[in-house]
Amino acid sequence: MTMKRTHIVGAGIAGLSAALAATDEDGEAVLYEAAPQAGGRCRTLYPPDGFVHDNGTHVLFTANRRALAFLRAIGATHRWAEPEPGGVPIYNRRTERMRRVGLSPWSWLFPSRCPEGLGPQDLGRILRLILSSCDRPVASVIGERPIMESLIEPLTVAVLNTPAAEASSKRLGRTLRLLLRPGASKLLVARCGLNEDLVAPALTLLQARGVRLLTSQRLRSVLVDNGRATGLALADRIIALGPSDQVVLALPPWEIARLLPTIPVPCRFEPILNFHYPLRGPDRPRFIGLIGTLAQWALIRRDHVSVTVSAADAVIDRDVNEVAAQIWREIAPALAALGLNVDVDRQPRARVVKEKRATIRQAAGPLPQPPVRPLVNLALAGDWIGYLPATIESAITAGEDAISALRDRHVKLT
Ligand SMILES: Cc1cc2nc3c(=O)[nH]c(=O)nc-3n(C[C@H](O)[C@H](O)[C@H](O)COP(=O)(O)OP(=O)(O)OC[C@H]3O[C@@H](n4cnc5c(N)ncnc54)[C@H](O)[C@@H]3O)c2cc1C
Repeated sequence: MTMKRTHIVGAGIAGLSAALAATDEDGEAVLYEAAPQAGGRCRTLYPPDGFVHDNGTHVLFTANRRALAFLRAIGATHRWAEPEPGGVPIYNRRTERMRRVGLSPWSWLFPSRCPEGLGPQDLGRILRLILSSCDRPVASVIGERPIMESLIEPLTVAVLNTPAAEASSKRLGRTLRLLLRPGASKLLVARCGLNEDLVAPALTLLQARGVRLLTSQRLRSVLVDNGRATGLALADRIIALGPSDQVVLALPPWEIARLLPTIPVPCRFEPILNFHYPLRGPDRPRFIGLIGTLAQWALIRRDHVSVTVSAADAVIDRDVNEVAAQIWREIAPALAALGLNVDVDRQPRARVVKEKRATIRQAAGPLPQPPVRPLVNLALAGDWIGYLPATIESAITAGEDAISALRDRHVKLT
C-alpha cells in the first residue's frame, strides 16, 4: 500500500497541528516554511545581543481544549503555568489602585473578584452579550458604561484584537460562554517562552515521526490541473505531486489570495505591538492588566517585562521610542505595586516588535470563509478559518480540520 504523503506549507501553529494530525495514523508529512524557523506568529527572538524574548505575549485559557490537547500530545502541558491563580491583578493608572479580577463571568458576581464599576445593569448587558445570537459591535451591546474601560474593551482586544466599537459580539459572546464552564477560565502562559514551551516540543515529536521541516522554502505557486494540485513551485524547485499526495496550505489569508485568487479570504487586519524591557523580575512569571494606559497587558518574566498594545492601529505609525517612553511611565508604578524594584525615571532600553497583520480584524458581520478543501487533494488551515477568535486555538483546530477534510471525514467548522 502507498503511504499518503502530506505536503504542508507553512510551519506556524496551524501547520504544526496539521503535521501532527497527518502523522497520527502512520502517514508521512513534509513541512515547507518560508522563514528560517518554524512558529510563524508564535516565535521566540534570539538577537545577537542575547536579549531573548517572544515576538509577543501569548496566553491560553483552560477553555482552549484543542490547544490543551495539542500540548498534551507534544508533552508540553507542564511547560504552561497559571501566573495569577487568584485572579488577574488589574492596575488602574488614574486611581493608582490594583485589584484582582476573575476571568470567569461567574466570578463577576462576587465583589472580591469583579471588575471596577460593574453594576447590576452591566450584568444584564454582559448576559445579553453571552446569549445573543445576532452579531453587533460589542460596544453597542454594552453601551457607554464605566465597565467598558475596566473590562469590556481590554477583554475584547485581548480576545479579538479588534476595538470594541467594531468587534463581533458573537465571537466575544462565544468565548464568554466557554469561560463559564467549570475550570475553563484559567489563564496560562509559557513558562519560558513560545519556542521552548510550544514550537520546539512539537518539532521534536514530529521529527520522531519522521516529518521533515524544510525552512527558507517559500511557496511561489500551486500547479493545478483539473481541480487537483499537481505540483508545488518552491523558491528553487518544483515538487511534483503523486496521485496519493495531498497538500495543506497553512498560510495567512493574503498568501492564499495570491496563490488561489478565486478563494474568498478576509482582507482587513489588526496590528499588535509589543514592548520588551529588560529588568530583574520575579522567579515565576506574573501577569497584570492595565487600565487608563496605552498598553493593556504586561507579562513579567525573570529577566524582562513584555507589554502588549493590541488593536494598535492608532499607535503603529508613531515614533517607537516615544511610545516606549510613554508606556514605561505608565507601567512602572504598576510594576512597583507588584513589588518590583523599578524607577519610573530610568527606562530600560526597549525592544519593540511590530506585527502589522497580527490577526484578521474580527468585526461584527460575516467574514469571508473559504472552503476547507478547495481542491480535491488540497485543504486550507490557519487561525483565520472558522468562527473561533483567530488564536492558537483556532490555528490548531484548523490544522486538524484540514487533515480530516482530506481524509474525507465530515468537517464541522467550530
Ligand atoms: C503579537 C501577537 C500576540 C498574540 N497573542 C495571542 C494570544 O495571547 N493567544 C492566542 O491564542 N493567540 C495569540 N496570537 C495569535 C496567534 O499567534 C496566531 O493565531 C497563530 O500563531 C496563527 O498561527 P497560523 O499557523 O495560523 O499562522 P502563522 O503563524 O502566520 O503561520 C503561517 C506560516 O506560514 C509561513 N509562510 C507564509 N507564506 C509562506 C509561503 N508562501 N511559503 C511557505 N511558508 C509561508 C509563515 O512564515 C508562517 O510561519 C497573537 C499573535 C500575535 C502576532
